[in-house]
Amino acid sequence: MLLDWFFRWREQRQLPHALIPAALWQRVVEDSLTGFYLERQQLDRLRELASLFLLRKAVNGAGGLEVDDYMAAVIAANACLLILELDLDYYDGWVEVIVYPEAFVVTREVRDEMGVVHKKRTILGGEAWSRGPLILSWKDARPDASRHAQGSNVILHEFAHKLDMLDGAADGTPPLHPDMELRNWIDTFTETYDCLRERIEKHRGTSIDPYAAENPAEFFAVVSEEFFAAPAHLHLHHADVYQQLRLFYRQDPLQRLNRPSTK
Ligand SMILES: [Zn+2]
Repeated sequence: MLLDWFFRWREQRQLPHALIPAALWQRVVEDSLTGFYLERQQLDRLRELASLFLLRKAVNGAGGLEVDDYMAAVIAANACLLILELDLDYYDGWVEVIVYPEAFVVTREVRDEMGVVHKKRTILGGEAWSRGPLILSWKDARPDASRHAQGSNVILHEFAHKLDMLDGAADGTPPLHPDMELRNWIDTFTETYDCLRERIEKHRGTSIDPYAAENPAEFFAVVSEEFFAAPAHLHLHHADVYQQLRLFYRQDPLQRLNRPSTK
């Protein structure tokens, strides 16, 4: 506890020197944060959190990519948007973000129903390990990535996995706040998830990215992306899921969207 206190005190003292420089921050805001309609105070808080995030984590390039300050700041800002009203401690327990230039190939051993182990190659735009590194492809994560237009954001997606895994299990349920009902969360998420899977099986259209039907962990990560990046869409089709996410993230992106412009 005392060590925690000391660590925080030292960090707060470092912050003014470690703050993401104004010009760089402005670029990050214009390129990757305008779509979230944050108020000035929220942007200031986000800048602080992102700066502290960069003090605590190493953002390293791989596959020949050199991570520059802009890339690190974009990743930190998007990561911290999820925890803007929570706490940076939600990202405790791991230290490294690894960034590849583009989608990367992973080879995993998977056991089929017959018990036979196969090697499976998968191409990923991001990956989050429980208590391990978070991996991103810059081509997919950069603010002008084409997927972003559809309310998709791989940085939000992978960091949502990190929040889900805080209690040790990637099961689509992060540790909820005391004022939330676990029963409500599970009922809401299970019902929507089952319904999504059924629609896909019957080849019907879906309002949520079908990738969410992979498993409950992917469901949580995908709806978290939509909650921030396409809140009106999520609210229109799944107001109950939106409501649970609003309680968990303690943010209301739709309300920000509907606020009269103060500019
Ligand atoms: Zn995922």
